[in-house]
Amino acid sequence: MSEVQPDIVEALIDVRDRAYAPYSNHPVGALIVSESGTRYVGANVEVAHYKGICAEASAIATMASAGERELREVYVIGPGEHLCTPCGDCRQRIREFATPETLIRVVDAQGTLLRRYTMDQLLPDSFGPENLGRDSAMD
Ligand SMILES: [Zn+2]
Repeated sequence: MSEVQPDIVEALIDVRDRAYAPYSNHPVGALIVSESGTRYVGANVEVAHYKGICAEASAIATMASAGERELREVYVIGPGEHLCTPCGDCRQRIREFATPETLIRVVDAQGTLLRRYTMDQLLPDSFGPENLGRDSAMD
């Protein structure tokens, strides 16, 4: 069951293999597709004081730094066959830029789709920009 395009799988594996994860030995890669259709990738980058950055956060930071503010798709790849879902902090980061149609896909180490989520499935009853009186793509 592979509904992930081969070029996306290749990009995910490439970025995961560039992760800097000497402490956890758990390299993760993320690829996000913005509203414009541009793809941004990120890998986890750990540091000695343990406050590293996740792959999803890295990719989102790159997208936001490019001036984009809306996520269409999110892909996450871990090092193994287990489900490498976004952590709680990353779920909130994804939520910041998600729409009700944003899909989050988690693939295994070879890029085969394991699970697909909507934002509401990944973070139900979430707190977002609209809770602070700001516009939100989730409205
Ligand atoms: Zn995370």
